[in-house]
Amino acid sequence: MAHIGIDLGTTNSLAAVWHGNDVSLVPNALGEFLTPSVVSVMDDQTVLVGRAAKERLVTHPTATTARFKRLMGTPSTVALNGKEFSPEELSALVLRQLKADAERFLGEPVTEAIISVPAYFNDNQRNATRVAAKLAGLKVERLINEPTAAAIAYGVREESDEMNFIVVDLGGGTFDVSVMEKFDDLLEVQASAGDSELGGEDFTQAVVEYILQQHNLSWPILALQERGRIYRQVDELKALLSDNDHAEFSFRVNEREYTTQVTQSELMDVWANLLKRLTLPVERALRDAGLTPSDISQAFMVGGATRMPQVQQLMTRILRRFPACHINPDHVVAMGAAIQAALKQKNKALGDVVLTDVMPFSLGVGCSNEDGQGGYLDDVHSIIIQRNTTIPVSRASQYVTLSDYQDKIHFTVYQGEHRLAEQNIKLGKLSVPVPKARAGQEPVEVRFTYDINGLLEVNAKVLSTGVTETVVIQNSESRLSDDEVAAALARISELKIPPSEQEANQALMARGERLFMEHLGQVRMSIAREIQLFEQALATQDRRLAEKAAREFEDFLNQFGTVL
Ligand code: AMP
Repeated sequence: MAHIGIDLGTTNSLAAVWHGNDVSLVPNALGEFLTPSVVSVMDDQTVLVGRAAKERLVTHPTATTARFKRLMGTPSTVALNGKEFSPEELSALVLRQLKADAERFLGEPVTEAIISVPAYFNDNQRNATRVAAKLAGLKVERLINEPTAAAIAYGVREESDEMNFIVVDLGGGTFDVSVMEKFDDLLEVQASAGDSELGGEDFTQAVVEYILQQHNLSWPILALQERGRIYRQVDELKALLSDNDHAEFSFRVNEREYTTQVTQSELMDVWANLLKRLTLPVERALRDAGLTPSDISQAFMVGGATRMPQVQQLMTRILRRFPACHINPDHVVAMGAAIQAALKQKNKALGDVVLTDVMPFSLGVGCSNEDGQGGYLDDVHSIIIQRNTTIPVSRASQYVTLSDYQDKIHFTVYQGEHRLAEQNIKLGKLSVPVPKARAGQEPVEVRFTYDINGLLEVNAKVLSTGVTETVVIQNSESRLSDDEVAAALARISELKIPPSEQEANQALMARGERLFMEHLGQVRMSIAREIQLFEQALATQDRRLAEKAAREFEDFLNQFGTVL
């Protein structure tokens, strides 16, 4: 049975599969590889995922949502057409669509997948991804870090047997850097670093705000529909400015038209802070790997947002070489995930490639330390596993009671690099009962075990009694209980999805509606007329007629520019 690789992206998602001697990307019902990670709920509660939903971001902003990957691992919910969805459920709807597309493509059921996550995803975010997969009816064989997946796709193709290389991955919502070593068939991640709150979308938003400001407008005063429309137009402008040094930009607010010129060099200033934030993880990953730019033989760029020339120039400057991006940066992560799936199945064509990965952040417990003057320093982050340790890993440290006759020790588990425990991400808690004794006399060993999927188990053992408490970090507020998962599963299976043969027509209709909203006067009326003609043709239920009408409608819509 085929095992697929999935890149569940902030902006777009896609699936790939190892087929014969190479990777194939899985096309969706529209024949495209990238499925926008957008979900929309129609009035009859049918759920649209992908391109049709993306068009509805403009026309039906309260029924449509995007960029929910950024909410993964948080307790937030999103209301769509009166129904509440958790980020796990929204991601599940995207995964379910990719699964259905893969099944159609392969002609067999797909039940297992390797899903990529940003290297910098924390434990909560990883668990949320697993829940999403479960809700979509997929067993996650493994979560793979996105830059590691990209590195596999590049690594297995590289001729050179021995090299250090760096993968810089700037997607829609996250930024990851991995430093890798290739030695014969061993691909070893030496260090990862990143920023899970920095991506191409921030660059778009910065341009939106810059342009609005020039006209004394601001984001908060815009109506929801205006926001969706302007954001989308600026995203297109940003892509245009990747290939041109200037472009004219027109937009409408309150029926008034504004026009402005934007140049590539202006963007350098608009993005100065964001570009600075990109520098730090690159420097940190190199430092943690004990390497300098001159030790690196190749730099690979991954993720749609690395197409921005400003990002390429910055990386060329820091890494002192031109980065390569000969595999499509939108496809490479899914391809790597599919190769990893094939490696797990011991596919002969891939030989004996072995991959090792690292844990990208430090993990520890909050504790009090003697300050050397008879007092205590509270809230110290006592690190048990240092960042960039090769995984799987199991490490332990010992702690003792602080007060006389204390009968319990509470441990709070943190992830992060801050000296003060509370300034890091709190992952969970556990407590163990200790025999009453004088302070400092009852040692407890705390062991952290971190597996190759990036999931953490913590256990605390009282050495004198052998009493042990174990948690697979459970009590985070964003974690769904088994009952909640079952309820979400039931809710999701109730949602109607349109048959795949209707998807293309739905996307066309949604695009027509969006263009109708974006235009005025005669043009708007001509769009309305064409929508009506298309609707009438569909209503006849005559397949040939409907296909002809779809072709004509698409030709008509194409005069307004390409699809989103
Ligand atoms: P990904 O999550 O890898 O699909 O990346 C999506 C991000 O890439 C979005 O923020 C897009 O705006 C950005 N992007 C895609 N194409 C381009 C381009 N030609 N120039 C600049 N940014 C782009």
